[in-house]
Amino acid sequence: MTDHTWHIAGDADGNPTTASCQHLTDDDHHPLAPPRLECPDCIREGSQWVHLRQCLSCGHVGCCDSSPRRHATHHWNQTRHPLVRSVQPGESWAWCYPDELFLLPEEQP
Ligand SMILES: [Zn+2]
Ligand SMILES: [Zn+2]
Ligand SMILES: [Zn+2]
Repeated sequence: MTDHTWHIAGDADGNPTTASCQHLTDDDHHPLAPPRLECPDCIREGSQWVHLRQCLSCGHVGCCDSSPRRHATHHWNQTRHPLVRSVQPGESWAWCYPDELFLLPEEQP
């Protein structure tokens, strides 16, 4: 399962928030192919990544802000695709760049 319904978990510091995220209801979210666990931009540039993030709009995989090249943030700056999720094994959360909100998957009944 790579497709989730997300809800807001907290602000950038992880604190509860009443903020809303309209990007969660965008209609152009479609199931994404399972990501390749590598940052193609880092491979091309001969850099190394720390953690990986996947764009929920187009499936692009980039590296996190702890990585030297920050390709996930670079992708957001270039495309304005708002949502990324962690693709680290055992991690399931997402991040909205414009709203600066942490998102968690809805529990499945
Ligand atoms: Zn948002
Ligand atoms: Zn990278
Ligand atoms: Zn994208």
